[in-house]
Amino acid sequence: MAGQVATDQAARLAGLIRESSCTIALTGAGISVPSGIPDFRTPGEGIWEKVDPMEVAHIDAFRRDPARFWSFYRPRLHSLGNVEPNDAHRALAELESRGLLEAVITQNIDMLHHKAGSQRVIEVHGSIKSGTCQECGAQFSLEEMDELFDENGVAICRECRGHVKPDVVLFGELLPAKAIAEADDLAARADLMLCIGSSLEVFPVAGLPSITIRNGGGIAVITKGPTPFDRNAVVRMDGDVVADLESVVANL
Ligand code: ZN
Repeated sequence: MAGQVATDQAARLAGLIRESSCTIALTGAGISVPSGIPDFRTPGEGIWEKVDPMEVAHIDAFRRDPARFWSFYRPRLHSLGNVEPNDAHRALAELESRGLLEAVITQNIDMLHHKAGSQRVIEVHGSIKSGTCQECGAQFSLEEMDELFDENGVAICRECRGHVKPDVVLFGELLPAKAIAEADDLAARADLMLCIGSSLEVFPVAGLPSITIRNGGGIAVITKGPTPFDRNAVVRMDGDVVADLESVVANL
């Protein structure tokens, strides 16, 4: 029975995607879980069990005690940098290549949408793909960053000896204004927003479905567990995110 409901929802969503002239995707941690990246809000899992992210991944920690910050963050960059995208990421890249998806807005920093082949990706929490010197603005790729660490395990700029920060939004930092403006604009123009793998509770992502709804668009929620937008969703799927998206693509 549940399988039939999921199939019906997939067929219905495929129909909506065909009719929509502007479809966008909004993705959160749930789409990267099948790639082996745990959602830090899932109890009992992941790197956040032993540390308080608000403390160690905070901009104040980076400024006050960069060695401690990096003792946590450097292995994180390493492990995230080696992860591969899964078929849910690939399904979105395929929709885009078929002209059925305009952009992906993501709160993930793991580069997996890019690795899967998505072209237009708006990373509202930044990305691990690079780091920037806080003094001179020099930018280094993820691979280059690895060569910047001094004897204390702190990333030091080659040009000016300033501190290099990963281009991810740390706790306590402002969100990247350009990415947020682009995300707001897309949300306002979208006929259809696919909300995937996000509980839609964390801003700025939590505000985007409302923008789409206010402007007359519809939202589909493809996420395990409840979200504040379940009642507004034109389609609601809560199975395995890979199977759900593959099923939608198979109906197109
Ligand atoms: Zn510098």
